[in-house]
Amino acid sequence: MAIERTFSMIKPDATKRNLTGAITKVFEDNGLRVVASKRVWMSKREAEGFYAVHKDRPFFGELVEGMTSGPTVVQVLEGENAILKNRELMGATNPAQAAEGTIRKQFALSIGENSVHGSDAPETAAEEIAYWFSSTEIVG
Ligand code: ADP
Ligand code: MG
Repeated sequence: MAIERTFSMIKPDATKRNLTGAITKVFEDNGLRVVASKRVWMSKREAEGFYAVHKDRPFFGELVEGMTSGPTVVQVLEGENAILKNRELMGATNPAQAAEGTIRKQFALSIGENSVHGSDAPETAAEEIAYWFSSTEIVG
């Protein structure tokens, strides 16, 4: 097992419902440490750049609209197997398919407004962390 860092976002649908603390508590209760955190209202350009991998998908416009509709809390989480652990804590993309006890099962509104983002692999974690944070903003 290895100590890893992953990138997380508490999306606007969740920040609007004042769920920042409740979602962060799930991370902390499960051995993930918040080593960087800030609240941003992302621009259209930032949202399009962050989600560029999905630019040809039919939901891209809706995704960018949702991500620019309110504040997002961007975070770096650190812990044992943090990347996979966070994906497990998040649950499936579609909350209707998310397992009991997961963040998306508890809090997500729909497949689009699904409350959290988490990196899916070491390469994307490194890229996504660098997209939002400089190294001096990450304090382990
Ligand atoms: P995940 O966030 O679980 O890694 P994806 O990378 O497949 O999921 O998709 C990125 C985000 O795009 C999802 O979290 C969700 O907000 C949105 N999304 C994915 N599929 C759909 C869909 N069919 N309709 C609307 N929004 C979607
Ligand atoms: Mg994804």
